Amino acid sequence: MTQTIQAVRGMNDILPDDAALWERLEEVVRSWAHAYGYRNIRTPLLEHTALFRRAIGETTDIVEKEMYSFVDELNGESLTLRPEATASTVRAAVEHSLLHHGPQRLWYAGPMFRHERPQKGRYRQFHQIGAEALGFPGPDVDAELILMCARLWDDLGIEGVRLQLNSLGAPAERRAHRAALVAHLERHADDLDADSRRRLATNPLRVLDSKNPALRPIIATAPKLLDHLGAESLRHFEGLQAILQDAGLPFEIDHHLVRGLDYYNLTVFEWVTDRLGAQGTVCGGGRYDGLFEQIGGKPAPAIGFALGVERLLALVLDAGGPVPPTPQDVYLVHQGDAADRFAFVVAERLRDHGFSVAHHCGGGSFKAQMRRANASGAQMAVIVGDDEAAAGAASVKPLRDERPQVRLPLDALPDGLSQLLYADDS
Ligand code: ATP
Ligand code: MG
Repeated sequence: MTQTIQAVRGMNDILPDDAALWERLEEVVRSWAHAYGYRNIRTPLLEHTALFRRAIGETTDIVEKEMYSFVDELNGESLTLRPEATASTVRAAVEHSLLHHGPQRLWYAGPMFRHERPQKGRYRQFHQIGAEALGFPGPDVDAELILMCARLWDDLGIEGVRLQLNSLGAPAERRAHRAALVAHLERHADDLDADSRRRLATNPLRVLDSKNPALRPIIATAPKLLDHLGAESLRHFEGLQAILQDAGLPFEIDHHLVRGLDYYNLTVFEWVTDRLGAQGTVCGGGRYDGLFEQIGGKPAPAIGFALGVERLLALVLDAGGPVPPTPQDVYLVHQGDAADRFAFVVAERLRDHGFSVAHHCGGGSFKAQMRRANASGAQMAVIVGDDEAAAGAASVKPLRDERPQVRLPLDALPDGLSQLLYADDS
């Protein structure tokens, strides 16, 4: 027997039963983004590897070990499946001079690719929804993005997602903090794990991000970024907090929140939950005022966030269970040569009038077709036999109650069907 071929490890099929939930999310997300004035952007899944190396940073987890990079054998270019979409969005904004006429509010949704160890809530192809506010210095827009996240949790009926905030300050402040941090970590060098010792040399801030419980005491006593912020950075951070307080949105300041990517400054935030086990971060974001320049554009302040759709949907399921499938209005049953052909006229006419129609295909007895109609969940069976075809008519049989079957001429069918579907039974 021929061996079957399976999906690539860590890359999931989203089957129709689950896709209903994804579609509902997509609807909610579209109107939510519109409510804040964010416009959709769609960038390619493949980018030049150099983009991510430069934007995300050489010493980050993503660039060091998670990227799907390969050489295009046809022209020798090094390409990478996008591990995130901020770099791509900024690349597109620079390439198409999007900020020429002023700042831009953008959102995106789609698959991202990271070569990680697959586990619950962590996949190699996963999906993000993100928003980027380009050309705004903040902190007003920082607050807007955070409030936007909070509204999405509400719109989806999700509870118990907590906001954690920190400020990474300006680059010079980070450097001062870095020097103090390196000194602190070097004093504890003997107690660091191998990974942290390596990071101490390459990217010491990332040690604060370590998930190794043994390092907790060292991390807890480490110098805090906040203590190194200057007046301007503090004003930005306090401005953001004031707006969140006015909005009644609770938050925690987490001194060890540094985010995994190099491009952040000032505001960084994460939304976390205890309901998802180890992969508890649903959403992460931050300000990246240096990124435009870093990839060769004119400097522009910017901030954005990305949320993990798989983790978000796990929370939606946790809050209310799966979405029931939406059946068609009509299941179209037909039998006989003339009827089989007339059925197409009926089906298209109904769709012209906005009805959804499951057209029975594959023949079978009238009885067998009616069984399918019942199982489909449709409200009505529309039945076409050779008699109906000869008369240019169709019969409508309500499937979910005892009302009698009625025969209607084709021209009267849409209205008659509306009445049966939408009129109340009294
Ligand atoms: P983590 O610490 O969980 O690896 P991250 O800091 O790498 O997350 P970001 O780059 O900030 O994640 O991406 C934003 C969000 O995308 C995360 O908060 C998470 O919800 C989701 N996400 C990231 N990586 C994955 C993955 N491999 N599988 C599923 N979701 C992911
Ligand atoms: Mg990660």
